[in-house]
Amino acid sequence: MRSLPNIIVAGTPGVGKTTTCAQLLSLAAQASPRVELRHLSINEIVKERECHSGYDEELQTLMVDDDKLMDEVEKEIADGDGAGGWIIDWHSTAGFAVRWVDLVVVLRCDETSVLYDRLSSRGYKDEKIQENMDAEIFGVVSEEARDGWGEPEDGRVVELKSVEPDDIEENAERILQWVRNWIQDHGPKTNGNGNGD
Ligand code: ADP
Repeated sequence: MRSLPNIIVAGTPGVGKTTTCAQLLSLAAQASPRVELRHLSINEIVKERECHSGYDEELQTLMVDDDKLMDEVEKEIADGDGAGGWIIDWHSTAGFAVRWVDLVVVLRCDETSVLYDRLSSRGYKDEKIQENMDAEIFGVVSEEARDGWGEPEDGRVVELKSVEPDDIEENAERILQWVRNWIQDHGPKTNGNGNGD
C-alpha cells in the first residue's frame, strides 16, 4: 500500500506539464507539513536509460521503446520502496498500469494560438505543430486517460485548463489539495494536515 498517491500529469506537448510539476513540487516542499512528492520525468528516463531506438528527424522526436520504458517506470514506482508520491510527467498515459496511478491530471490548452506559439518557440516544424494541435483539439490524451481511469465524475481523471500564467499556480494548488485529501482518506494519519475540503 502506498502512503502517498502516484499522479500522472499528462497532456499534449506544450500544455505546461513540466512547469506545473515544478510548481507542484515547490509548493509541496514548502507546505507544512511538507508533502514528499517526487518528480518522475519520463523524458529523462527515455533519454538516460535509452528507452528508444534512435531519433526520428522527420517527426523531431525519439522513437520510444514502450516496453523498455514501462519496465524502467515500474522499477521506479512499483519495485522501489513502493511509498508512492510520484508525479509522473509525460504526454501520454499509454502503457501505464491502472493500478500504478491514483490520479491522472490532463492539462488542456484550448486556445490554439497560445499552444501554437509555445510549440513554434520550441523550433518544431509546421507538421509537428499541426499534429500536436490536432491532438489537443480532439482531446486525444483525455480520451486515453478516461479509457484507463474512468470518467471525470469517477474522480480519477481531472482536466485542468493551462492557458494563462495564473493557471500554473492554481493547478499546482489544486493537485496538492487533491494529494492532501488522498492522504486523509488513505494515508497514515500522521501525514494528514487536517485541512481537507
Ligand atoms: P510541457 O511539459 O507540457 O511540454 P512546458 O511546461 O515545457 O510544457 O511549457 C511549455 C512552455 O509554455 C513553457 O515556456 C512554459 O513557460 C509555457 N507555459 C506552459 N503553461 C503555461 C501557462 N498556463 N501559462 C503561460 N505559459 C505557459
